[in-house]
Amino acid sequence: MESLANCFSNLETPIIHIGDSVNGLPIKGFKLGSGTRKVLMWSQMHGNESTTTKAVWDLVNFLSQDKELGKTILANCTLIIVPILNPDGAKLYTRENSNEIDLNRDAKNLTQPESIAFRKLFESFAPDFCFNLHDQRTLFSAGNNDKPATVSFLSPASNKERHITPTRETAMKLIVAMNNMLQNEIPGQVGRYDDGFNDNCIGDTLQMLGVPTILFESGHYPRDYEREKTREYIFKAMVEALKIIAHDKIETYKTGDYFSIPGNKKLFFDVLIKHPELVNSEFEAGHSVGIRYKEVLKEQKIIFKPEIAEIGPLEGYFGHETIECIDIKDFGFTSNQKDILNLLLNFNK
Ligand SMILES: [Zn+2]
Repeated sequence: MESLANCFSNLETPIIHIGDSVNGLPIKGFKLGSGTRKVLMWSQMHGNESTTTKAVWDLVNFLSQDKELGKTILANCTLIIVPILNPDGAKLYTRENSNEIDLNRDAKNLTQPESIAFRKLFESFAPDFCFNLHDQRTLFSAGNNDKPATVSFLSPASNKERHITPTRETAMKLIVAMNNMLQNEIPGQVGRYDDGFNDNCIGDTLQMLGVPTILFESGHYPRDYEREKTREYIFKAMVEALKIIAHDKIETYKTGDYFSIPGNKKLFFDVLIKHPELVNSEFEAGHSVGIRYKEVLKEQKIIFKPEIAEIGPLEGYFGHETIECIDIKDFGFTSNQKDILNLLLNFNK
């Protein structure tokens, strides 16, 4: 990673070896800045979620430039960034680690070396803020609207009653600040993740331990399955949060505004097909077909394999793309959508 050396040339960046994965790959973090406000962030706890990993490199790039805001952040904050917490999963493109354990369900039990390494880092660094960085599936809408949840946030619960504790409130206020900024860029495309409590999830555990923790979820942006646009919004959101922390402005935001962010709903299909009965009479008239892509690693490349997820009236659902099937010649499918057309043609055959 050549650019990394360039990134670090302006920064004093001790690389920290925080532990090893099940398969013996090193888990590394790096430390930036010298301020009193400590921020710990980690990405790819789920191996197949790399958008936020790219965004943290963008953040490092930004901080290494000689810009006023970057200097202010580094003077007021100390950051530890773990870009890939689950290197085995990253290599195999799996959510779980090599023992097939979801590390985000291992925060209490600490059965995996990755979980133990992270907990040791957390305890020795004693952060004031945590950023828990993930990707979410394309199915999420921001509320009941036909807008994808391009970015979602959560201030996780710290008990099953989901009380609004001061720790949660701090995280909520930072989310409000990021949402305010993002509404100018992607209006209506920010969602709020479900706050059901699970003390084996890392965010819930850290919040329970009294450290304001924010879940960042990178989601879908129209026609951007590589998530390069989302990467940019996550980067901007992280800079905004660090700016507010560095300037000590958290208290200027209101907890109540957090709840006006629409909740994530599962209303999107990758492709919504209307009138499928015109393609194949096995489908009932009045029904639609919802297609979702499954990400498959093939020869070191990610391919998006379409699968039929649901068949029915599908009212109130949306497609990132919608095909009406009324075009007599090719039903409206493009040459890139032959796999989808074949799925429909072969249905019940
Ligand atoms: Zn995740």
